[in-house]
Amino acid sequence: MTWLRQLRWKLFVSHVVVIAIGIVILLPTAQFFARNPMIGTSDSTLLAAAPPDTPAPSQQDTFQSVIEQSLLIAGFAVFTAAVVVSLFVSRRIVEPLQELTLVSGRLAQGYYRERTTLQSDDELAQLSHSINQLAEALEKTEQRRLGLITDVSHELRTPLTVIAGYMEGLIDGVIQPEPQIFALVHHEAVRLKWMTEELALLSRAEAGQLRVEPRLIVLAIVIERVAAHFQSQIASQGLSIELQLASDLPPVLADPDRVEQILINLMTNAVQYTPSGGKVVVFARALDPFVEVGVTDTGNGIGGEHLPHIFERFYRVDKSRARQSGGAGIGLTIARHLVYAHGGEIWAESAGPGHGSTFRFTLPVYGQSGI
Ligand code: ADP
Repeated sequence: MTWLRQLRWKLFVSHVVVIAIGIVILLPTAQFFARNPMIGTSDSTLLAAAPPDTPAPSQQDTFQSVIEQSLLIAGFAVFTAAVVVSLFVSRRIVEPLQELTLVSGRLAQGYYRERTTLQSDDELAQLSHSINQLAEALEKTEQRRLGLITDVSHELRTPLTVIAGYMEGLIDGVIQPEPQIFALVHHEAVRLKWMTEELALLSRAEAGQLRVEPRLIVLAIVIERVAAHFQSQIASQGLSIELQLASDLPPVLADPDRVEQILINLMTNAVQYTPSGGKVVVFARALDPFVEVGVTDTGNGIGGEHLPHIFERFYRVDKSRARQSGGAGIGLTIARHLVYAHGGEIWAESAGPGHGSTFRFTLPVYGQSGI
């Protein structure tokens, strides 16, 4: 009888119960008055007091009287039953509704830990389950928001502390105004500026507001442009770079500026985490219905335990090393958002620490785009 737990059946059954009570009362009452037509009628008293020559009531009058009496009693019984049943049913509906209203009101006020505790398994329980799911999603979002504020303030505090420290030292005359001091302060200021730009990009990405303007592009041109951009840095760090671009690369439908940004983030990491003497390879090949682009390096590599997390916001394998080198742990998060916005996938591979890393992402070829 699980169906009886559903709200619609409860309401239906309550109506049927009221009708059934009406019929059950009406039938015996009508039979009773039909057998004793004079009981309860005004005619019975009148008849007793009436003179003997008063004519007996007609059959039609008796019938009418029986019907009226029966309907009156059955009507009263049905009314009483309707009041009792509707009180019972409405209590079963109104009480859970009150709880749901209370909880959703608390959620609207920002108390995301609030949950409903309805035990039934009718439609109201389903609604309660949905409200709890909504509360959970809101709670997670709120936790992420609070986490973001903590992370951002933590990231910004480091360069700001360095700049403030040096400036105080310069003002007090404790630190001599030498070119390397200015260079250091400048470096931190640039890092701060870059970080705020990245954070702005990240927040737009996480809010789903990253604009992607896809058009038909030749990937090889974008890759070569990015590689040229890194040429001097690669040379100054004692690294080498190689491009392995398949000759049959189909054109892709993508936003060239965004693809450039993805490649810059991957290349920045490859250069950053590869010691002198290492090599960076940028490759691209057709992998129907996508084009796969990748950046491989012979650098530090990534431990298996870190691989599932490195695309998470502010995740860094080695926090102290990343801080020295200026990484905030958002480059890969942004890259992933950008790849997803193109309908592609991105992932990382590494044989472990000291064995280099490979980052690959896909872009749909023209005609297959998921944008
Ligand atoms: P960051 O700005 O710190 O580099 P990312 O989001 O770009 O932030 O990368 C997250 C973390 O992943 C880095 O801190 C680093 O530990 C690891 N990582 C990314 N790319 C590489 C790479 N090519 N080689 C080794 N580790 C890497």
